[in-house]
Amino acid sequence: MRNLVILGGGYGGIKVALGLLDKDLPEDVSLTIVDRNPYQSLKTEFYTIAAGTVADRDVRNDFPKDARVTYVYAEVEAVDTEKQQIVFADRSDPVSYDYLVVALGCEDNYHNIEGAKAYTESVQTFANARKAGLEVGNLRAYGKVTIVGAGLSGIEVASEIRESRSDLNIRLLDRGASVLRAFDPRIQGYVADWFNKNDVEVLHHANVEYVEKDGVCNNGVCYVNDVTIWTAGVRPNRIVRELPYQKDPHEKIIVNEFFQVPENPAVYVVGDCASSIHSPSAQLAGIQGEQVAGILYSVLHNKVPKAPKEIRLRGTLGSLGKNDGFGNMMKQPLTGIVPRLVKSGVLWLNKRH
Ligand SMILES: Cc1cc2nc3c(=O)[nH]c(=O)nc-3n(C[C@H](O)[C@H](O)[C@H](O)COP(=O)(O)OP(=O)(O)OC[C@H]3O[C@@H](n4cnc5c(N)ncnc54)[C@H](O)[C@@H]3O)c2cc1C
Repeated sequence: MRNLVILGGGYGGIKVALGLLDKDLPEDVSLTIVDRNPYQSLKTEFYTIAAGTVADRDVRNDFPKDARVTYVYAEVEAVDTEKQQIVFADRSDPVSYDYLVVALGCEDNYHNIEGAKAYTESVQTFANARKAGLEVGNLRAYGKVTIVGAGLSGIEVASEIRESRSDLNIRLLDRGASVLRAFDPRIQGYVADWFNKNDVEVLHHANVEYVEKDGVCNNGVCYVNDVTIWTAGVRPNRIVRELPYQKDPHEKIIVNEFFQVPENPAVYVVGDCASSIHSPSAQLAGIQGEQVAGILYSVLHNKVPKAPKEIRLRGTLGSLGKNDGFGNMMKQPLTGIVPRLVKSGVLWLNKRH
């Protein structure tokens, strides 16, 4: 048998699996999907878990039931590229591979800031987002929440908590001169107004020096605080960073046009772990996953794969609570209820799939 192993059943990994299962897998190929969770996590919605505004069940999907797939629900500890084996932290049997798809996503980047990892909540894993939701939910009246980082996830976390708890004192620390640096100035202005109207304090030019159990120290001022949520940057998963393959300056693995690692073309990388000209996103991971499914289908049938088409992204959408939002669609900046409804539609489609 030839063993194809997909590491990570998130946005990228699941698309590889679904693309292959839609077609005939050769009889001598066994497909294994490895994930720490026994379901697909819809990470783009983790801000709702951190704010405690939706149920767990609403932001995850069951994995496809198919007799051709073996699931391993375990914590990957390392990939032994010499032995071609996956080693686990909580399972003694390693899993061997002949073909490997690495789709393990990303984790927080704490930029070596003292106390950041120990004393902040995270939205990068389901378990961590649940813990953040518990901490926020258990806050006494008028408790203080600081969100560090005013990119897409920081904005979504801050606005969702505000809409859910009008009593809390919420502060957003933004490294730049305006929130959402990567977006159109009209969107930046709209979001800044939203925070102003909804009584979220935004501090620009933030430079967090250290974090303590009860506070955040920024630009020489220490703010007493009950819950601090870290949304100030990501980096590829540790397991990916430790792979002996060439990385780009963002620590992502460099791949060829077939998403193969040049040092070992039987290893494919997609999503937040793969070097790309595009910014990381669920949409990018999904398209890459579909393309890798097509490439692997040819490879597994001993055919030469066609070069994948150039990736065209449809835009990015963000929420400001449940009834307001923003985004770039077809290169047009949009604000208000329309982008919010489209975002809900995208979630609906993801869940339906
Ligand atoms: C709050 C928030 C909001 C976001 N909003 C948007 C948005 O609106 N639009 C957008 O396009 N993108 C958004 N993103 C980014 C998007 O979620 C990611 O770019 C996308 O999930 C990347 O897909 P992926 O397949 O690379 O990884 P993921 O979808 O993260 O999948 C990785 C999988 O690997 C598993 N895994 C990881 N490590 C291990 C391990 N050691 N052992 C076993 N299993 C493991 C995880 O459980 C997970 O299932 C948002 C992110 C966050 C945090």
